[in-house]
Amino acid sequence: MPELSIIVPCYNESKVVGTCYRETTLVLEELGKSYELIFVDDGSGDDTLRLIREIAANDRHVGLVSFSRNFGKEAALYAGLKAARGEYIAVMDADMQDPPSMLPAMYAVLTAEGYDSAATRRVTRAGEPPIRSFFARQFYKIIRSMSRVDIVDGARDFRMMTRQMVDAVLSLQESHRFSKGIFGWVGFKTKWLEYENTKRAAGETKWSFWKLFKYAVDGIVSFTTLPLRFASIMGFAISFFAFVYLIVVLIRTLTLGIVVPGYASLLVTILLLGGIQLISVGILGEYIARTYMESKHRPLFIVKEQTSPRPDDK
Ligand code: UDP
Ligand code: MG
Repeated sequence: MPELSIIVPCYNESKVVGTCYRETTLVLEELGKSYELIFVDDGSGDDTLRLIREIAANDRHVGLVSFSRNFGKEAALYAGLKAARGEYIAVMDADMQDPPSMLPAMYAVLTAEGYDSAATRRVTRAGEPPIRSFFARQFYKIIRSMSRVDIVDGARDFRMMTRQMVDAVLSLQESHRFSKGIFGWVGFKTKWLEYENTKRAAGETKWSFWKLFKYAVDGIVSFTTLPLRFASIMGFAISFFAFVYLIVVLIRTLTLGIVVPGYASLLVTILLLGGIQLISVGILGEYIARTYMESKHRPLFIVKEQTSPRPDDK
């Protein structure tokens, strides 16, 4: 069994897999521990798969898991963690935004300092579009205030974990995965290492605004049911105001007689109530949809091709 497993999810990363492989190998060779490097090809449409195949053919440390289509980064992470056989397991992006040079320090945190996990967070979001940073910050604020799971702002998926923690992560089989929350949920002792944001080495980000939005909703719905309570709280509040208003109207009618105006307030009330009802039904729908999807117990990914790293032939 190797000491270290490094997992790299790749989706259309033909421009960077080579660099990623070379840089990471340099770092790992220098560290001098036995290791394996597992690339998970998340159904790339470009040359990524062919490049990884070539790398794996020439280097016995390298393994490959290739999906039959794009299942998303979360599925790729899961597949990688499942394939990993190391005692210490790290997950890392292919685009060099997660610097491989941090791996030795993470390894030291686990082996020398006795932590179960070495995680990373960016202290700056420099180089990211400002709108994206803004929404990202809001998202972390919202999810932190609603959920008891500790989700750190600027946290990356880049982290190294012990075998024990990985087994715990793998034991959560939900199909709408939100790794940042899952890593927090399983507990264990985590040390946060900070670093400056670095730009992608080459290629484009794979996250459109829409993909990020869905990711955010997944995060919230997976880790808190507080939005469901929002419906009941609003219901109570509105019923209370409606009751007060009813008394006001009653008194007014009794003292002043029937007055005609009221069209505007009536319309506003109806629209407001209708809106809130729709929102509440929508929130309910989100949770029911999740329950429905989870109840199908579909596999998180489908492997089309797999190459395992070959053990030392020394
Ligand atoms: N990725 C993936 N499947 C996807 C989207 C992304 O495996 O559907 C991988 C991607 O190849 C990269 C990592 O996830 O290694 C992070 O993606 P990216 O750099 O595009 O995200 P960003 O750094 O912009 O948040
Ligand atoms: Mg990136």
